Amino acid sequence: MIRIAQPYVEGLYRFWCPGCDSSHGVNKNVWHVDLDTETITPSVLVWSHKKLINEDLEGDALTAPENVMTTPRCHSFVTNGRIQFLDDSTHALAGQTVDLPEWTSDKS
Ligand SMILES: [Zn+2]
Repeated sequence: MIRIAQPYVEGLYRFWCPGCDSSHGVNKNVWHVDLDTETITPSVLVWSHKKLINEDLEGDALTAPENVMTTPRCHSFVTNGRIQFLDDSTHALAGQTVDLPEWTSDKS
């Protein structure tokens, strides 16, 4: 089972984050990624940011508050195929450790 993938570019790894329900990416120039042990070091920190709920919006809809969501802050250690969410994460899995899900081709 592949949990940490290189779907687009050699050296740019992605994994699916069950806390954010989205993928996160790490670059081998910054992180050490061991695919054999499914471990990424050091920790991965994804800052909270605003994003559109729908990429196809145009015009005034781009700035309408109801079309903008705030993603969670997500701080984790990926070790031996499991993801440990640190307490400074702002999603529901903060403080928990869960299995990293399988990477499948429908993820991005
Ligand atoms: Zn996350």
